[in-house]
Amino acid sequence: MLKDLLATRANPDVPSALSGLFTNDPDPSAISFAAGSPNESLFPVAAVQRAFNTAIAKQGAHLFQYQNPQGNPALRAKLAARIGKWGQVTTDADHVVLTVGGQQAIELVAKALLNVGDEVAVEVPTYVGALAALDLYQPTYYGVDLQADGIDLDQLETTLKRHPGIKLLYTVPDFHNPTGITMSVAKREQLVALANRYDFIILEDSPYRDLGYEQAPLPAIKSFDTEGRVVFVSSLSKILMPALRTGWLVADDELLAAIMKVRLASDLEATGVTHAAIDAYLTANDLDAHVNVLKDHYRVQCAAMVAALGKYFPDDAQFTTPAGGFFDWVTLPAGIDAGALLHDQVTPNAHVSYVPSTNFYPNRDVHNGLRLCFSGLTPTVIDAGIHRLGEQVKAAVHE
Ligand code: PMP
Repeated sequence: MLKDLLATRANPDVPSALSGLFTNDPDPSAISFAAGSPNESLFPVAAVQRAFNTAIAKQGAHLFQYQNPQGNPALRAKLAARIGKWGQVTTDADHVVLTVGGQQAIELVAKALLNVGDEVAVEVPTYVGALAALDLYQPTYYGVDLQADGIDLDQLETTLKRHPGIKLLYTVPDFHNPTGITMSVAKREQLVALANRYDFIILEDSPYRDLGYEQAPLPAIKSFDTEGRVVFVSSLSKILMPALRTGWLVADDELLAAIMKVRLASDLEATGVTHAAIDAYLTANDLDAHVNVLKDHYRVQCAAMVAALGKYFPDDAQFTTPAGGFFDWVTLPAGIDAGALLHDQVTPNAHVSYVPSTNFYPNRDVHNGLRLCFSGLTPTVIDAGIHRLGEQVKAAVHE
């Protein structure tokens, strides 16, 4: 059996946390709250096309040569300057590494830090793609609950006291995927103090930080870092286009050297032609103005989602009220299995889909939650979908 030759991390009997997330409902009236994709009607296609032409015209054949392994220096400088505006993450392009999406940045950090069995803390629920990347290194997970203002620091400290070997904490502090929750500034600072005291690395993953509907981005956790133990990760996927596959990380010297070592082995360098085009796009266009257009759309969609949940869901279901991003998180009464509900009742009767909570827990052991993504749907469709979903939830709760 060829399967016997595979590494444990690739064992197909244990599917990737990212596989099987979405149900495919061929019904023409189907409404999906499942996929967490940005709204493609908002992609600046013509401007990006012009930017590719500009980059190619300017550099010709040289553009298609191997390039800097950390990524295009001009683009790194622009990203560093942009993040420098909202709390000093860095203003130094030498501390920035361009990656193939934020996803590769997460995977590189995992690869640089984790031996089999190493202890890792994650918020629960957490981003399913981070679980997929971390899972490859077969860590021992400790879940830490989220509160309305972010990770429960008391619970984290208790966990750290019990398990002093924890070496990595993964967190999504801004408009968290899957819950929409944002970590308070006070907690960001306290979290760094805990990392210093208990000697662990923080992986701060923040692809949604620009998408606060009413507020400018909060200071990143990394802005409180005094010991070079926070790696900051972000991405252009949610504010420009995901298929550009351009994410980036910021790390200080020691961790940066380790990350670059594993990056060279993985892919030598990321997509240099695309980086030059993005640099040309940022020179010719105002990204902040584009982000404001996105925020205007997502704000309206989120309001429609929250209003519909209030109208159509039973009182004993709780939901978050996000201040940015793409997601709302619903907690159903204990005992209701959101996965079984989706499969047995919601898909056949209402043709609506979502991602059940088990996917967002490292041990797949919490069943009564669900993630709803509103980014791709109009307010009318959101209202109709939540109405249909609410009927099924009510029936299940009152059965
Ligand atoms: N982190 C989080 C929290 C995400 O939601 C996503 C995308 N769903 C990513 C990282 C990775 O996105 P990308 O690789 O497209 O930058």
